[in-house]
Amino acid sequence: MEKVSVIGSGTMGRGIAFSCATSEFLTVVQDISESSLETCRTYIEKQLGRSVDKGLLTVEEADAARERIQYTTSIEEAAEEADLVIEAVLELMDLKIEIFKQLDQFAPPHAILATNTSTMSPTEIAAQTNRPSQCIALHFFNPVPKMKLIEVICGLETSEETIQKSFEFGKTLGKECVKINEYPGFAVSRMNCLIGNEAMNMVMEGVGSVEDIDKAMKLGLNHPMGPLELADLVGLDTRLRNMEYLHKTLGEKYRPCPILVKYVKAGWLGKKSGRGFYNYSE
Ligand code: NAD
Repeated sequence: MEKVSVIGSGTMGRGIAFSCATSEFLTVVQDISESSLETCRTYIEKQLGRSVDKGLLTVEEADAARERIQYTTSIEEAAEEADLVIEAVLELMDLKIEIFKQLDQFAPPHAILATNTSTMSPTEIAAQTNRPSQCIALHFFNPVPKMKLIEVICGLETSEETIQKSFEFGKTLGKECVKINEYPGFAVSRMNCLIGNEAMNMVMEGVGSVEDIDKAMKLGLNHPMGPLELADLVGLDTRLRNMEYLHKTLGEKYRPCPILVKYVKAGWLGKKSGRGFYNYSE
């Protein structure tokens, strides 16, 4: 594998693109939004600078990584020479299917098509392509450069070769992969969304303040982040879509907390909008 294309340059897409480019993959990032691509470019510049400051990359390695990244709004251009395409657009099944249909048309026949979905069925997405054996879910975690795990979720027809190549790709990125069989929410989102939702219900019921509930989980259970600050980092709109899908597929215990619904309606999307369970403008 030499060339990786990342579709969607938001929170996850830009982190995946950074990790690919610094692991010596030629990387193309595609988004329909020029402003999202610009934010992605700024993020990657900042990450390269930080990596040099921390001694993780030399100036020459950072320059080489920068040279390896291209930005485009054309999905055809992004896919046409890719060995692996990773889709990281919004958590909406119809959108993912639409993107996969186009990727199937534009990507070379050997290319693997992966989705970074947090919850949804790679089988359902793959079924809309002519290469279901080369479709898989590669679930990265936020922030991608820091988080070690990739959940590798195999659809019904995913081939052994696709799984093996995905594990090799993960290893090249310096990540650990776990193989998970397809079920809504896989392993991590299924547990994590429930913890986050319960924390939100506890805020609503007045069990404790946002700060104290997070502190309780950090100091009481040794979680590196509290569930509410983590939800803010993920993006409350993204988390709500995850909860809606899990509610639909796994049942009542995943009903999204009303506070989450209300915050998203208000445009409080967490860190990315400056306001969520915490206020980031202060
Ligand atoms: P985001 O909202 O930050 O970014 C989504 C990007 O997709 C935006 O830049 C948007 O312009 C772009 N986009 C929308 N329609 C598009 C199209 N038709 N073609 C190309 N680009 C398009 O979302 P995110 O948080 O990065 O989530 C992306 C995916 O990753 C979702 O499936 C989500 O569930 C999953 N995920 C998110 C996290 C997280 O912590 N945020 C963690 C793991 C997985």
